[in-house]
Amino acid sequence: MVCCRGKNSTFVIRKFIRMDYLSILQARINKMKNLRIVDILKTGQVGTQITVKGWVRTRRGSKNVNFIALNDGSTIHNLQVVAEVELFGEELLKLINTGAAIGVTGKLVESAGSGQSFELQASALEVIGVSDPEKYPIQPKRHSLEFLREMAHLRPRTATFSAIFRMRHAMIFAIHNFFNERGFYNVHTPIITSSDAEGAGEMFRVSTLPAKDAPVDEDGNVDYSQDFFGKAANLTVSGQLEGELFAMALSRIYTFGPTFRAENSNTSRHLAEFWMIEPEVAFFDLQDNMDLAEEFLKYLIRYALDHCMDDLVFLSGRLAEEEKNKPADQRSMELIEKLRFVADNDFVRLTYTEAIEILKNSKQNKKGKFQYPITGYGTDLQSEHERFLVEVEFKKPVILTNYPKEIKAFYMRMDDNGKTVSAMDVLFPQIGEIIGGSQREERLELLERRMDEMNIPKEDMQWYLDTRRFGGCPHAGFGLGFERLLLFVTGMTNIRDVIPFARTPKNCEF
Ligand code: ATP
Ligand code: MN
Repeated sequence: MVCCRGKNSTFVIRKFIRMDYLSILQARINKMKNLRIVDILKTGQVGTQITVKGWVRTRRGSKNVNFIALNDGSTIHNLQVVAEVELFGEELLKLINTGAAIGVTGKLVESAGSGQSFELQASALEVIGVSDPEKYPIQPKRHSLEFLREMAHLRPRTATFSAIFRMRHAMIFAIHNFFNERGFYNVHTPIITSSDAEGAGEMFRVSTLPAKDAPVDEDGNVDYSQDFFGKAANLTVSGQLEGELFAMALSRIYTFGPTFRAENSNTSRHLAEFWMIEPEVAFFDLQDNMDLAEEFLKYLIRYALDHCMDDLVFLSGRLAEEEKNKPADQRSMELIEKLRFVADNDFVRLTYTEAIEILKNSKQNKKGKFQYPITGYGTDLQSEHERFLVEVEFKKPVILTNYPKEIKAFYMRMDDNGKTVSAMDVLFPQIGEIIGGSQREERLELLERRMDEMNIPKEDMQWYLDTRRFGGCPHAGFGLGFERLLLFVTGMTNIRDVIPFARTPKNCEF
């Protein structure tokens, strides 16, 4: 590469190489010292020279000195930066507004006030990205969650949402840990499918046919044989059926993927796009399934307590603030206390039939206080009933089992009474159903009979029935709604606030 031979040019090249080397070295040092705030606050040492980059939460100024609260998203805590006005000048400091991206080099010193062990005495300040304080929507004050939902592109920069999304990450990690430690294999089930796990509508169609003048068949229906897949296709509502195929081969599997439901329910617990975790286990019965679900939820809650305490303390304070406006008897338990309580106590297990008796005879029902009165066996439980059982009757999570076959899916295993199926729902305080699952019907004849009764087209499902034809075995599994879990561990009350970008009826922004 080096082809210049003259004395001069050799010198130039040497100098160039030397500079290059130095700048690489410097970059390396910078990278090492470009520390995350969480690490600085945990393991920083007074007197060391460091560089940090992040976003300005606030800047307070006096004549001589400015205090900048800097956050890089790695922790709920800000790093206080102290900048002498004389050293940097008003001009530069004026650019350091809420929302601006800056880099700071300086010395870590012991903090006088601010409730933190360290602050950073700035010796160099770099404005990396300015932010017009007049226009930046996230002001250093309390914004409503509704307002922040409309600012979903900027809300991760707030304390509340950065805490939520760090916890979301921690829970993802914990879920994979839990299953990996127990010999489960993660399976990616398809997002586009031509099957409908529940045998009901509420799906999003996937099609490349023109919206206007789509080809039709003799009966005037859209002719999907001309569509991309040669048949009607949808976004998945569950990975369970495909998950079962893999459980019949790898024994223990779980899926963790996006799930889509076009149900037009504008509630605080439903999303059109959400994430679901679905373990499926060969040779498991309903009891094993309940044990797994309970162990799983407790593991995740303990993981949050062990790994996310800073964020939990903050979120607990936020919740307490919000609950102040509620009448005393409607306030929920303090967040961390509630998580400990659920992690440390056995869930209550009872059958649907027992639950109906309790609900039917409850004061609530007798006084007509349920929106949907309980008349007796056969009524589908609404969230108000689920919450009554959990919050009023037992004051603990509840696992309800053995529901009437009429209100559950075709693949659930028929009980010996011929009336109920081996279903289980795990019900949580404030949330209602967090997990739905069952032992699956492994007996081919019984499964086919249910499919006929419920008008599930068997011709399209031969691949599913094959698992019952060849080496069929008892098996069970469940689905945990990831965002419902997050509602519980973060103490948030609206599901739109625990997913980065919520998709709900009439809402697909960003
Ligand atoms: P629900 O009765 O609450 O609408 P479901 O019985 O229709 O729920 P399942 O089909 O049993 O739900 O799905 C398993 C889990 O997925 C549920 O227990 C819940 O945690 C979660 N879930 C279901 N639908 C949604 C949704 N629209 N948004 C977010 N999570 C959901
Ligand atoms: Mn369910």
